[in-house]
Amino acid sequence: MPGTVDLHMHSTASDGTLNVEELVRLAASLGLKTIALTDHDTTAGLDAAILFGNKLGLEVIPSIELSAEDNGEVHILGYFLNYDNQEFQAKLKHFRDTRFNRGELIVQKLAELGMPIEWARVQEIANGASIGRPHFAEAMKEKGYVQTIAEAFEKYLYNGGPAFVDREKITPVEAVQLIREVGGLAVLAHPTWVNDLDRILEETVQTGLAGIETYYGHYDEETVARFLELAQKYNIVPTGGSDFHGRDDGGQVYLGERLVPDEVIGQLKARLQP
Ligand code: AMP
Ligand code: ZN
Ligand code: FE
Ligand code: FE
Repeated sequence: MPGTVDLHMHSTASDGTLNVEELVRLAASLGLKTIALTDHDTTAGLDAAILFGNKLGLEVIPSIELSAEDNGEVHILGYFLNYDNQEFQAKLKHFRDTRFNRGELIVQKLAELGMPIEWARVQEIANGASIGRPHFAEAMKEKGYVQTIAEAFEKYLYNGGPAFVDREKITPVEAVQLIREVGGLAVLAHPTWVNDLDRILEETVQTGLAGIETYYGHYDEETVARFLELAQKYNIVPTGGSDFHGRDDGGQVYLGERLVPDEVIGQLKARLQP
């Protein structure tokens, strides 16, 4: 039986390549029943995703992915958001502005590395979306500096890499609080990225963290088992998804390809704030 749940994916509202309609149609055609659209720092795709989902008999959970920092990058997913909230939207706008502001600095670094790209072209590729490194990678590929998006990350854009530019980020605890303030459930994304996992789990669980991504992307059985154990230890829900971006970035897990147990949805809903 193929899975029916995928709780991590991106659209053209951030750094995915499929627009919301294409993404939801693809999900329905693959037999998915419940999906979460988790664009970076934006809820711009959610209204349309829910609408198309309703038409196609697909439950779309209004979601987001926030970038926090604590001894390295820590991504926090938010599920079941009451996202129509002025304060929340103002904060997201600020996060997107920091993404935009670092854009010219990345362009500068690339020029210094002998790979000039136009900032205007990057903005064109992003097309109003929450701008991210994949948009720069796309522009580099277009110019022939790299063959694939993955190569752009491996050689230049990775964290601390020659073309990497940091931006101001909130802490994981602040990200959890922000999500909870709009009635959402916060989940720690792709925990293999996280450096001080135990400490960060202790702090965020105290703040109300509801889950940890366990059935994620290419995670093998051993990795899944490790995070299942942590989920049990901290009494949080083991969630998961593909982190599908739609683009050719080599080795990505396709939409719905990552099996996530159906019961995760019920376990999450049981934790919704009354
Ligand atoms: P940013 O949000 O601008 O810091 O960019 C981070 C995003 O880049 C991630 O959310 C992924 O979508 C993408 N990304 C990070 N590492 C890689 C990689 N090695 N290959 C392809 N995409 C990546
Ligand atoms: Zn992304
Ligand atoms: Fe992420
Ligand atoms: Fe993601």
